[in-house]
Amino acid sequence: MFITIFPQKGMLREEDYQTMAGLFRAGADNQAIKNAANQIRLKLNPHPAGQQEYNTPLFEGKHLNGVQHKYRQTILLFPQQGQNCHAFCTFCFRWPQFTGIEELKIASCGNHRLSAYIKSHPEITDVLITGGDPLIMKTKVLAGYIEPFLSPELSNITTIRIGTRALSYWPYRFLTDNDSEDLLNLFKRIRKAGKHLAFMAQFNHPNELATEEVKQAIARIQEAGAIIRTQSPLLNHINADANIWAEMWQKQVSLNCIPYYMFIARNTGAQHYFAVPLVEALEIFRTAYKSVSGLCRTVRGPSMSCLPGKIQITGIHEIYGQKVIGLQMLQGRNPDWVRRPFFAEYDENATWYTELKPAFGEEQFFFSEELDQILEPGEFETGFE
Ligand SMILES: *Cc1c(COP(=O)(O)O)cnc(C)c1O
Repeated sequence: MFITIFPQKGMLREEDYQTMAGLFRAGADNQAIKNAANQIRLKLNPHPAGQQEYNTPLFEGKHLNGVQHKYRQTILLFPQQGQNCHAFCTFCFRWPQFTGIEELKIASCGNHRLSAYIKSHPEITDVLITGGDPLIMKTKVLAGYIEPFLSPELSNITTIRIGTRALSYWPYRFLTDNDSEDLLNLFKRIRKAGKHLAFMAQFNHPNELATEEVKQAIARIQEAGAIIRTQSPLLNHINADANIWAEMWQKQVSLNCIPYYMFIARNTGAQHYFAVPLVEALEIFRTAYKSVSGLCRTVRGPSMSCLPGKIQITGIHEIYGQKVIGLQMLQGRNPDWVRRPFFAEYDENATWYTELKPAFGEEQFFFSEELDQILEPGEFETGFE
């Protein structure tokens, strides 16, 4: 948990570290340090997987700011007041939300237009409220975002998901905050309206599940009718060990939580520090998976959230004498790409799908050409303000 919260030297590239150290040594003023930090930040791929260019939907000719719609059934909502967090994890792929660089920030001020958009897209069933951390908001403010989804007008919405780290960092949100009761009552109202309430909780290590407070908080959320699903990236220096994952999934199941995703550390921020090679990630996943009961095996992974979709590494194969990596998509920008097996040349160093080469002498992966077409300007507008 220390490495999760406190920046380590290795999280900056050597040259960037030297730039910053030089400024400090020379007694540079705050503005100079801030400018240098921002220059480094812009080199760290602040918007991986094309999320800002390609995931912001157009509605009646205008972008729906603070919303992402990549996979047909699910939209992500980034409430403006939720763009803060209980703690700033060093590996967070949403780090640009917290830099103070306004152009990088994704935020929605309200959901009047969003409601109209959802109504005109009956295929949308899930709203995932994310951030930041939406549970940083007062219950009153959160309720303002959620309540429109409970109206009969938006009957296509069957599921409200809340992506949060509050269970690890501030379990008191559900126990002793002055609006904890209101929050749990809001959860109950969501259930009364006939919606599924899915808590997408992030735990990176079994130690985060160890306190009495987190156990009580989990129980209270469940009593309010929510289902807690769990996810985490696989992180070098933090949880790159099969025993950690096996223990974590077992603890989660014993607390009535459902293991959901194991992610690969995304290609942003200090990826060089946290990345685990894909082949090793698969081995950690498989070793943990085979050692736990079937009830833990609801988890899927290791999976990369990337431009074309969510790509899962499924296995290492030897096919006609060639060693290859098996892959499939769990989600795709084109839904028809999902669960079509494809293969890359074996590469024990690759940490991201862009470093992989298609196997068997193919020029490109089966989805590449279509992906280029989907992302062509015209379909999506580039050049964001
Ligand atoms: C992961 C993700 C979702 C949710 O996908 P599920 O597989 O339904 O959990 C939705 N939108 C984006 C952009 C995502 O990356």
